[in-house]
Amino acid sequence: MTDSITIALSKGRILDETLPLLKEAGIELVDDVKKSRKLVFPTTDPDVRVLVLRATDVPTYVQYGGADVGVTGKDVLMEHGGEGLYEPLDLNISRCRLMTAGLKGQPAPTGRIRVATKFVDIARRYYAAQGRQADIIKLYGAMELAPILHLADEIVDIVDTGNTLKANGLEARELIENISSRLVVNRTSMKMKHGALNPIIEKMSAAVDHRRAAE
Ligand code: AMP
Repeated sequence: MTDSITIALSKGRILDETLPLLKEAGIELVDDVKKSRKLVFPTTDPDVRVLVLRATDVPTYVQYGGADVGVTGKDVLMEHGGEGLYEPLDLNISRCRLMTAGLKGQPAPTGRIRVATKFVDIARRYYAAQGRQADIIKLYGAMELAPILHLADEIVDIVDTGNTLKANGLEARELIENISSRLVVNRTSMKMKHGALNPIIEKMSAAVDHRRAAE
């Protein structure tokens, strides 16, 4: 009997950049994901189906076995904690940086600092590791507004080109982590469905190497 495999993908930019890698691994969605409101997609491989989820839900689905495999950003995995997950492959896509940022030309306060972010655990660990006392304020979006409106001294956010920070009078301060999307696998699935999962991981790894060589 062949094992059926469920792959959880993060919608948006990561989805767009993951589909070509999956295609190189021999897995293609049957429907046009952009035109469909489905959440579960059959693929050209009858034993493989794909879920399209919010990036932050991908590690949770994979951790609890709702999906065997997932693709999401390292930022999301760091915030989740990675419990119950293997992280066998860096897909080298959707690259960006997780950084601290604040108002341009205004240094961070030397004492206790107020930090607004959606990455509360990462921020807590980062400031604690530096021996800095930080009050973390959870926001779900538009972090750039927080320093402007004096809600916080600093933010922790994803930076790609830096244009969003610049457009709001902010500047990047410290690099917390270089981010890219990762393949994660449920620990039990890795043991129980090894025969079906290994070829997918190997083919995706070959596709990543192929792209790196062409860079
Ligand atoms: P930028 O203006 O190019 O620095 O882009 C910054 C904004 O784009 C951030 O607020 C992020 O929410 C988003 N962003 C850029 N790259 C990524 C990525 N790889 N993953 C998730 N969000 C991203």
